[in-house]
Amino acid sequence: MSELVICGLRAGIPGREILSGIDLTVRSGEVHAVMGRNGAGKSTLSQVLMGKPGYEVLGGTVTLDGVDLLGLPTWKRAQAGLFLAMQYPIEVPGVSLEHTLAEAFAARGSDPATVPALVGAEAERIGFDARFLSRPLNVDLSGGEKKRNETLQMAVLSPKIAILDELDSGLDVDALRAVSRRVEQLTKERGLGVLAITHYSRLLTELRPDVVHVLAQGRIVTTQGPELVDELERTGYAAYDAGDDGDGDAARPGPLADPFADPFADPLA
Ligand code: ADP
Ligand code: MG
Repeated sequence: MSELVICGLRAGIPGREILSGIDLTVRSGEVHAVMGRNGAGKSTLSQVLMGKPGYEVLGGTVTLDGVDLLGLPTWKRAQAGLFLAMQYPIEVPGVSLEHTLAEAFAARGSDPATVPALVGAEAERIGFDARFLSRPLNVDLSGGEKKRNETLQMAVLSPKIAILDELDSGLDVDALRAVSRRVEQLTKERGLGVLAITHYSRLLTELRPDVVHVLAQGRIVTTQGPELVDELERTGYAAYDAGDDGDGDAARPGPLADPFADPFADPLA
C-alpha cells in the first residue's frame, strides 16, 4: 500500500503564489480527480509535485511512502514511484521511446532487455501504432498519439502514483476510452494510485473517480464523491470562484462558462 501525502503545499512562480495550501492524500488503487477552471493552478500542482524547474515551493510537505519528495530532483521522484503524464508532452528528437524506457529501467535496476516486449504488449493494449515505437519520442505525433504514448510509458514503468494532467485533451472518444480502461486496469491489477487533473467532466465519464476535489483560489475548496462531476457539468465553477483575484482571469469567460465548449480541442494542433 502506497501513499502520496500533500500537506499544506504552497508554491508558485517567482513573485506570485499560485498554490496557497493544498492538502491531499492519494493511496494505492484510488482515483482522485482534481477539477478547476482554466488557470486555477492544476498544472502548477502537477509540475510542483514532479519538481519542474521554475516553480518555487513556499511551504508544506509532499511525501511518497514517507520519502520527502520536495527535496529530490525529478528523476529521483520518478524512481521513488511518482509518474507525471504531461498536459503537453514534449518532443525529444533523436531519442526513441524504447531507448528512454530502457535507460529508466537500467537506472532503477530493472532489466532493460525486458523493455521491447513490454512496450509491444502495451502498445497493442492501448492501440498505439507500432510504427511510432522506433520513432523519436513524441516527434510529429498528434495530440492523441502523444497521450497514448504517455499512457504506454506509465504502464511500462509501473509507478506507485500517477498524476495525469488533462489526459483527455486532444483525445477522441475511442482513444479516451482506451487510455482510461488501461489506467483503470492498472489501479486494480497493480494498485496504481491516480491523481487525474482535468477541467472537463469528459475524462471522468470514462475514468471513474472515487473522490473529486475542486481547486480554486489556490486551495482544495471542496471534496466530494463522483456525483460532483455531474454537478460541475451543470453549473460550472462559478460557485467556487471568489471573484476577481486581481490577475484579470475572472473577467475572462473561460471554457468553463460552457462545459460543453469544444471538449475535443487539441492544444497541440
Ligand atoms: P491550470 O492548469 O489550472 O489551467 P496553471 O497551473 O497552468 O493552471 O496556471 C495557473 C496560473 O499560473 C495561470 O495564471 C498561469 O498563467 C500561471 N502560471 C503557471 N505556470 C507559470 C509559469 N511557469 N510562468 C508564468 N506563469 C505561470
Ligand atoms: Mg493545466
